[in-house]
Amino acid sequence: MGALPSPALSEGAVDFIDDERLQGLLMSARPDPIGIREIIAKSLAKQALTVEETADLLAIEDRDLIEETFAAARRLKREVYGNRIVLFAPLYIGNRCLNDCAYCGFRRSNPDAVRRTLSDEEIQRQVEALENKGHKRLILVFGEHPDYDASFIAHCARLVYRTKVGRGEIRRVNINAAPLDHEGYRVVKEAGIGTYQIFQETYHHPTYRRLHPPTTRKGDYLYRLDALSRALEAGCDDVGIGALFGLYDWRFEVLGLVSHALHLQERFGVGPHTISFPRLQPACGVRFDWPHLVNDFDFMRLVAVLRLAVPYTGLILTARERPALRREVMAFGVSQIDAGSRIEIGGYTEVGDTQIMEREQFALGDLRSLDEVIRELMEDGYIPSFCTSCYRLGRTGQRFMEFSIPGFIKNFCTPNALTTLLEYLVDYASPQTRAVGERLVAAEVKRLEEGPVKAALLRNLQAIRETDQRDLYF
Ligand code: SAM
Ligand code: SF4
Repeated sequence: MGALPSPALSEGAVDFIDDERLQGLLMSARPDPIGIREIIAKSLAKQALTVEETADLLAIEDRDLIEETFAAARRLKREVYGNRIVLFAPLYIGNRCLNDCAYCGFRRSNPDAVRRTLSDEEIQRQVEALENKGHKRLILVFGEHPDYDASFIAHCARLVYRTKVGRGEIRRVNINAAPLDHEGYRVVKEAGIGTYQIFQETYHHPTYRRLHPPTTRKGDYLYRLDALSRALEAGCDDVGIGALFGLYDWRFEVLGLVSHALHLQERFGVGPHTISFPRLQPACGVRFDWPHLVNDFDFMRLVAVLRLAVPYTGLILTARERPALRREVMAFGVSQIDAGSRIEIGGYTEVGDTQIMEREQFALGDLRSLDEVIRELMEDGYIPSFCTSCYRLGRTGQRFMEFSIPGFIKNFCTPNALTTLLEYLVDYASPQTRAVGERLVAAEVKRLEEGPVKAALLRNLQAIRETDQRDLYF
């Protein structure tokens, strides 16, 4: 296979990652306590940091100063996001793939991978199983293959929205799939998708070249870097970026993510909706001797620095991580997590709790059920939320709105989190989880100030308890 022709890029597409500059910033960063505290203060004033300031935070070696960044991230999380955590589940649709990413169990040169694409009926069975657990938000995941073109992705999204069982329904379908061209993004947008997520994997050019053969579509660094700019140009207003931590120096990757977020913000007036920071996991047929694997402490640091660098961007923490670490990192400003996840193709109905490496992309660290995760979140003082209101009322693209409009969180986010949580408690929770949840809902309602919003919320909560009415949102 020869090099592939490059399809059209976004207008004025540029490779905005300058390896030497980013390396230079990391080398020359001077993390003196006074300067660091000024940077932290800027972040606590809810201003995005520059790449240079982020490099200073990454260069801190003093343990006490690192603890100060942790404390600041926790505070920012409380002040900006409050105590809501949005829950979702991944649904793997197919693992056929023409790419050959060295770290992935789905790569085309892996003879042990069991290749499979779910049929429409199988997708429906998976979705019903997810709805019966209480899920409302999914992310559909695809390998990169001509079978999984934009019209197939759009078809899957529509199928998921149409599939309903009992009181269950999926209200937001996000996508993690190969980059598309402009027309492709228009097609998937038409199907009502939420966020289109694409991870750059590594922002470091030489590492990228080494891990993604140039004869594959994914081998084209700029085509991938530009992918979400094309999505925004084509009208997909919620996009998610990410890096696969462990492929190269984690500090460099954080600078890459921040550069990407700032680039989108500058070009389109809107930054990414979310940032993901998956850590490399063992995968079928992949040797696990990577020199840049990120340890737990550095993982906590990178999440804290990301929180401080981009105060208004959602952070997604996946079930790749073990429960104890997830619990700790959550407090640093994570806004979304997946729960009850299975990533084998067909995994929600077919394989129980066993992980079968030949059928999945990599191994998961958190296999707890949605019910268990929700209970733990509530015991830790979080409000688990399945809210999909903004996107369905057209309040998308401007994540900032949530924070810039006075009273937005109080008037919309918290009430919507409580109604979606109560739906879960009434329709799906175990008795133990329901008891914990009812106490939390009562305490949260009590904290809301009296007025029309609280009155309407109380009516909605009562309707959920006493009738079949669902999906009541502000
Ligand atoms: N095929 C599409 C792509 O590569 O963008 C989308 C789906 S891919 C299955 C989703 C993500 O899984 C990749 O972007 C990569 O970051 C992540 N991934 C791949 N191998 C992994 C591994 N061994 N451990 C953790 N995450 C991995
Ligand atoms: Fe294919 Fe995506 Fe895996 Fe790469 S990461 S081999 S593109 S599924």
